[in-house]
Amino acid sequence: MEGIIGLVRLFIIFFTIRIFLNSIFRRVIMRKQVYNQKNINDLEDARRFSEENINEDAVDMVYDQVCELYLPKAKAYQVVEEEETQYFCSWECRQHYIEARSIKN
Ligand SMILES: [Zn+2]
Repeated sequence: MEGIIGLVRLFIIFFTIRIFLNSIFRRVIMRKQVYNQKNINDLEDARRFSEENINEDAVDMVYDQVCELYLPKAKAYQVVEEEETQYFCSWECRQHYIEARSIKN
């Protein structure tokens, strides 16, 4: 009888420790999830910040009428005409425009 009581007591102690460790473990996991969520928020802030910067750069975007796309003015090839400057994404587009214009004239 003494042995059985001792065994039961051992089980109770064992399960008490298990539940205790589980609650600690769960708390650590929850903290980790909160930390990950914070990291995701930081990433979204970084993304939003870079998008805002891109939008600011949009002031300096120019239109390539040959291949019909917008590109940063700093990267564009130019043809300076009397009234306005034309911008192109590549030397080929620039040449294409000049040839088309000379045919028109
Ligand atoms: Zn182009």
